[in-house]
Amino acid sequence: MPRKKTLHKKPEKKTRAKKAATLTTPRGMRDLLHNEYFTYQGFFEKAADIALYYGFQPIETPILEKEEVFARSVGEETDIVAKEMYAFSTKGRDRVALRPEGTAGIMRSYIEHGMLSLPQPVMLYYHGPFFRHERPQHGRARQFWQFGFEMFGTDQSVADALTIKLTHLILEEVGIKNLCVLINSIGDDQCRPAYIKELVAYYRKHINKLCTHCRKRLRVNPLRLLDCKNKHCADFKKDAPEIVGFLCEPCKRHLKEVLEYLDTMEIAYQIDHTLARGLDYYTRTVFEIVSQVEKNEVNENKDAESSDSDTQKDQGADKKTDQKEAVEEESLSLGGGGRYDNLARALGSKRDIPAVGAAIGVDRVTKAPGFSAPTPRVVKRPKVYFIQVGAGAKFKSFEVIEALRMARIPIAHSISKDTLSAQLGMAEKAKIPHIIILGQKEANEDAVIVRNMTTRSQETVPIAKIGEYFKKH
Ligand SMILES: [Zn+2]
Ligand SMILES: [Zn+2]
Repeated sequence: MPRKKTLHKKPEKKTRAKKAATLTTPRGMRDLLHNEYFTYQGFFEKAADIALYYGFQPIETPILEKEEVFARSVGEETDIVAKEMYAFSTKGRDRVALRPEGTAGIMRSYIEHGMLSLPQPVMLYYHGPFFRHERPQHGRARQFWQFGFEMFGTDQSVADALTIKLTHLILEEVGIKNLCVLINSIGDDQCRPAYIKELVAYYRKHINKLCTHCRKRLRVNPLRLLDCKNKHCADFKKDAPEIVGFLCEPCKRHLKEVLEYLDTMEIAYQIDHTLARGLDYYTRTVFEIVSQVEKNEVNENKDAESSDSDTQKDQGADKKTDQKEAVEEESLSLGGGGRYDNLARALGSKRDIPAVGAAIGVDRVTKAPGFSAPTPRVVKRPKVYFIQVGAGAKFKSFEVIEALRMARIPIAHSISKDTLSAQLGMAEKAKIPHIIILGQKEANEDAVIVRNMTTRSQETVPIAKIGEYFKKH
């Protein structure tokens, strides 16, 4: 029976599908809506709060920068700049790019505004959207959100330690468990060249088995050989020469000091010899913070230990076990950063500006196991449902809403509705403790009716005294 109609419907469906396709976000980008907006907002507020207590100040740079800011700093040969950057010419033929990361723009700002003349270190935090033209089927968004911070004008290891501590602390404070810092040093101009030589010699022996990217990396940026996610290339990683043996004295001391700070702060870390990070501008310390999912064995022990407290949460525990099995042995990288003493010169600074920074991937963190969203300050739970009845009352509505705002009483309403019953119905559904009714009579008397929804008692209150009334009740 239903088949009969399909002939008629088909063309209509097609146009509808076409229409729908144009009315969507660009591929790999999405809207932040409803509760998810507040989740992000809550995270940004929490992270900013912690950063402020640790002495950082906010900064916001343009989403668009001159293309060369990233080409010179991130590196022309990196995937980010060569393949993934949204770069284009404006009508005035300037080459610009949507920022693929935060550090380069902030260093540009530091140099442009002469922040070198301020007391050092200059400590800044930022958050917002970033853009990379990646393939969405790999689960990566083309617009993503980061929270990051930078310390400019210091080469001291304590700055690296503070950066790691802050990243770790923010993740911890939003509930992420089993955090571990993966850390490495990639040396500096003094010691890295000798290591690179050795690394290239090692990989050259296996050149025929390397992926095409790695063959190119061998020529243009050998350190990135260690970053390759290709299975065949990963096999060569474990026998690759380790940079630790090549570090010069100052680099060695720097790494040792950073690790001592981590020990003192009791932050769990692992030295990861293959950690190089994807960007050209790093020197010395590079790190990533991962949330490690424990192996089954460890889980069982832990569950046994804490079984008493867990008996009431049986259902939740079951769910957790499922999750654990699904992502067993995976570790989720949630943030990272490092030192970048050469970035300023790459951007054209006449002076050295040693610096260190980190960024947190907010999209991943908000989906990570254990994450609990802090409630943002902007969220206001309505204490009052405001109802107006009659044309005169509607005109006076704004006065009442403003009186309530001045008294800091959050409200809900449906100002476009006219009838009492429609508005009462919505107030009941919303389960808000009080309603305020403004009828024609009340409007004439500059008053409102305040009804307590629990006790059903009500009272007429002058608009001018609304604040006072709610303070008492
Ligand atoms: Zn490879
Ligand atoms: Zn060195």
